[in-house]
Amino acid sequence: MIELYEIYKVYKMGNEDVYALNNVTLKILKNEFVAILGPSGSGKSTLMNIIGCLDTPTSGTYLLEGKEVNKLSDNQLAEIRNSKIGFIFQQFNLIPQLTALENVELPLIYKGVKKSERHKLAKEALEKVGLSNRLNHRPKQLSGGQQQRVAIARALVTNPSVILADEPTGNLDSKSGSEIMQIFEQLYNQGCTIVLITHDISIASYAKRIIKIHDGKIVEDYKIA
Ligand code: ADP
Ligand code: ADP
Repeated sequence: MIELYEIYKVYKMGNEDVYALNNVTLKILKNEFVAILGPSGSGKSTLMNIIGCLDTPTSGTYLLEGKEVNKLSDNQLAEIRNSKIGFIFQQFNLIPQLTALENVELPLIYKGVKKSERHKLAKEALEKVGLSNRLNHRPKQLSGGQQQRVAIARALVTNPSVILADEPTGNLDSKSGSEIMQIFEQLYNQGCTIVLITHDISIASYAKRIIKIHDGKIVEDYKIA
């Protein structure tokens, strides 16, 4: 699914080279639930941006579903982002004027899916996250946990190959946070591939595999029974 080979990301800061990623080699298979765990500044966001085709490495090879991504143009990268990756961020990034249902329909509008089909798919995605009874609520009328569930439904609705979640519980209290993590567990059990980025070991522990990163290097990679 995701194959990274000898990935470097180097930022020039004056005379100094900052190695945000320093020789990362990593394989993530279909239907894995992986947490990338590291302290602030360890390179997590940089790695997420590369996996999510938001950025390209300074050197190294990235294959997504066997296709070499680092050779693609910006337009082709955008196409891959839209079709293969479902993003979830700490801030929910919902559009305040739109209802839950309309927010979830948005990525389908961009894909040109027709209205009746959009409705059906968005409803199904909201059902999956337990929000069937909140279809017509606007973000402000929803709790933080519910807003994040809408964002998860929006990420799911295009049926992406990978779900990339960057500190998805960062803005939530611990109860809502664990509810969100239980949704990721369910999605994993239904066959989704999930990559979770976090600095929080208790959040990472919901995953089935933990990859620890420090100073741009993988320092540990282990499975959880
Ligand atoms: P996270 O949200 O994962 O903690 P941040 O984006 O806040 O990541 O940044 C993490 C570290 O990277 C911080 O130390 C920040 O100062 C540094 N950083 C982020 N963007 C830049 C940049 N454009 N130039 C220099 N340092 C940056
Ligand atoms: P994390 O997400 O784990 O907090 P980042 O990937 O944001 O870490 O950053 C990793 C390292 O790369 C940090 O040392 C940060 O200062 C540096 N960095 C990140 N983005 C930039 C940038 N755009 N320019 C310069 N340095 C950066």
